[in-house]
Amino acid sequence: MESTATDPFSQIITTLLKPLIFASKDNFAHLSAIKNIAELTQNLCQQALRLSISDGTMRRVRELQNIFVGFDSMTVDQKKDKITKAMEIIEGLKVKGERSMIKTLTPNTLHLSPDFEEIKTRVSRLSTPLRALKGIGTKLAEVFRKKGLESAEDILYWLPIRYEDRRKIKKISQLRFGAKEVASGEIMVMGEVFYGRRKIFEMSIGDGSGFLRLKWFNYKLPFMKRRYKIGQRLIVYGEVGIFGGQKDIIHPDIEIIEDGDELDSLHFNAIVPIYSQIGNIHQKTLRKIIRNIVDEYSSQVVGPVPKDILKRYSLLDLSDAIAEVHRPNMTPPCPPLEKGGGGEFNLRDWLPRKSLIFDELFCLETGLALKKGNTEKKDGITFSINSKLVEDFVKILPFKLTAAQDRALSEIKRDMAMPHPMNRLIQGDVGSGKTVVAFIASLIAIENNCQSAIMAPTEILAEQHYLNIHGYAESLGIKVALLTSNLTKSERTTILNCIKNGDINLAIGTHALIQEDVEFNKLGLVIIDEQHRFGVVQRALLKKKGANPDILVMTATPIPRTLAMTVYGDLDVSVIDELPPGRKPVKTKVYREKDREQVYNIVKNELTQGRQAYIVYPIIEESEELDLKDATKMSEHLQKDIFPNYKVNLLHGRMKAEEKEKIMKAFKAQDINILVSTTVIEVGIDVPNATVMVIEHAERFGLSQLHQLRGRVGRGGYESYCILLAGRVGSLDTYQRLKVMEDTNDGFKIAEEDLKLRGPGDFLGTRQSGLPEFRVVNLLTDASLLQKAREEAFKMLKNDPNLTLKEHAGLKEIVKMRWKGRMELAEIG
Ligand code: ADP
Ligand code: MG
Repeated sequence: MESTATDPFSQIITTLLKPLIFASKDNFAHLSAIKNIAELTQNLCQQALRLSISDGTMRRVRELQNIFVGFDSMTVDQKKDKITKAMEIIEGLKVKGERSMIKTLTPNTLHLSPDFEEIKTRVSRLSTPLRALKGIGTKLAEVFRKKGLESAEDILYWLPIRYEDRRKIKKISQLRFGAKEVASGEIMVMGEVFYGRRKIFEMSIGDGSGFLRLKWFNYKLPFMKRRYKIGQRLIVYGEVGIFGGQKDIIHPDIEIIEDGDELDSLHFNAIVPIYSQIGNIHQKTLRKIIRNIVDEYSSQVVGPVPKDILKRYSLLDLSDAIAEVHRPNMTPPCPPLEKGGGGEFNLRDWLPRKSLIFDELFCLETGLALKKGNTEKKDGITFSINSKLVEDFVKILPFKLTAAQDRALSEIKRDMAMPHPMNRLIQGDVGSGKTVVAFIASLIAIENNCQSAIMAPTEILAEQHYLNIHGYAESLGIKVALLTSNLTKSERTTILNCIKNGDINLAIGTHALIQEDVEFNKLGLVIIDEQHRFGVVQRALLKKKGANPDILVMTATPIPRTLAMTVYGDLDVSVIDELPPGRKPVKTKVYREKDREQVYNIVKNELTQGRQAYIVYPIIEESEELDLKDATKMSEHLQKDIFPNYKVNLLHGRMKAEEKEKIMKAFKAQDINILVSTTVIEVGIDVPNATVMVIEHAERFGLSQLHQLRGRVGRGGYESYCILLAGRVGSLDTYQRLKVMEDTNDGFKIAEEDLKLRGPGDFLGTRQSGLPEFRVVNLLTDASLLQKAREEAFKMLKNDPNLTLKEHAGLKEIVKMRWKGRMELAEIG
């Protein structure tokens, strides 16, 4: 059937086009005459979608469908934009040529996962700025913005902190002491009263069954007087206490009941969500704003978790979960009645919340799995792992590899022999011998006519790697270069040329390696030391210097297993969990300020035996706010007053690189006996003659950091000591925390302890990790769900590596959007 202007589809579109043309005529002169355009458009598009139309057309109609939502509250410019955009879309429809026929739709097709265009439309709706919403003006939008809430979607994720069951509010006479309760009543009396010399604000509310006293120790009188009036009815929440035979609540949460409120199921006769305060917006107003947004936008939310997985875990669809959290039909856990009865009521286990958490974790793991799968699909270099160089090297090596080193090495070899690029992490405590393993991997690459690069986070470390390696390299006939920012221009040019033409087999360096002008002849293996210090960005930059080179990252910061799954989720992990034989564990002890004399004696004792010492401070220069012993001042004091017969020297991060190096060399050469420093020595310095380390203000460091520092001693055959000097006699907690260091030398155990005590921040390294930020997940409490989400995501991708199956339609897009802006994301493909 040749279509004409009278076919149903064209009719619909023409109907829609008319008001738009009218509105836009004469430079939008009739803009204000446009009424109910959103509704009209939605209806017409709905009708159009029931017709048999091509996929392309369907996409355009979908785009059109919601284009005018919120139109009435838009600015004139926004309205003009929308109309112009709509007309452009219609133009693209080429109405005349469309073949259309009425077609009955099976109900199923309506419930297919939304496609990409649809998702895009929804995402753009969800990102509607708050000020564009009804009832939110510029001022209110600003209050939200201060809390980081800028779009409708942000509000959807502003989750209630608790719920109040107001379906049947208890009589005051029934309130139980020690329980957190909701009560309601009328203000009988109020005002300031004196308890001895203490002034407090008090009011008494009654409900016919009894009286409840409300008390404030902190308050602003004018505010209280302005806000509350005798006769007003309140709904209050808090822990019920008793004082002088009278029930009371101190600093209650309060909502004022206004006429008609009791009929409003938003605030009454329902389980009511309570939100954490935003600016000075009253709870009721906040609840209303959020409810409006939830009503309008929650249905737009699309979650990445496929239906069959939701079903298997009995989880809610994301959009239902969001609606449910804000507008509960299922009963959420309201606060426990008994004091101590369960303590914090656990909302996280409540199905809608759990669904949100799973959703976020699944999305994260799908991203990681895609990334990993993508690497595995790429063509890499297939290395031949039978290497004469390695054989020769093992012969000249003065020690035997540990079993753990052997294991890591065979895992690396297996990866290198594969046709796709290796992406492996070696985790091993300080001194476990990662560098040797990495060097052997380099030898394999070099034997295969490829170059290798080692990137270290500091000049000192890069240099140390160079010094350790180049002796061996020379006897093996390998060319190694050190590339740091210390080089003169001509030195640099020479080295760059040699790297470019392939004369250099192994390049060791700092960030200098990822500068734009560094070109490799054929980079086959990239080794990144102390991965923790580099962002994902730098890792990717170095990788780009070659064509899909193998990647090996090394870290001495053991990461708790639960976190490793997220932080290094796209890497395979080898663990070197054994120290070379003969190492004596560092004897660690916590001392207090009063033991300082004793501590100095321990140091002196080592020095007289020809050993060296580190003394570490958390900061460089004294600052007025912080009563900390600063490195600069202390180093003078130590030299003059405590160790006049020894050479004391200062090293800190703000020194020039050359200066630092000079000092480090002098310390290594034993020209310096005591090195006073800030945490610059944390990473990788190797001076086997140093046997004692004193860490001042040890309480200021994380345990993992202390462990890293401690790794600087005990590197020779001597008995070594680590002294943790706790500054101002801290709390018992601090002391106990430091005691962990006395009990174990196991970096993994310490990391787990740190995780428990300080949370995941230390490990995730803020933005550095390149991971999306979590909105609902708490890695500490959600570890078991994380495990499940990971299994599911990886399983799904195993069956459908490119997410092309129908039931996964749109999934990739959602994941990409959530990972938006992260480096390497493009690689998800
Ligand atoms: P990491 O980089 O893991 O901190 P290194 O590779 O720097 O550790 O090794 C620390 C020291 O131990 C180095 O001096 C190294 O030569 C030595 N070493 C490495 N492996 C062994 C081993 N299997 N047996 C004895 N010493 C070893
Ligand atoms: Mg190292």
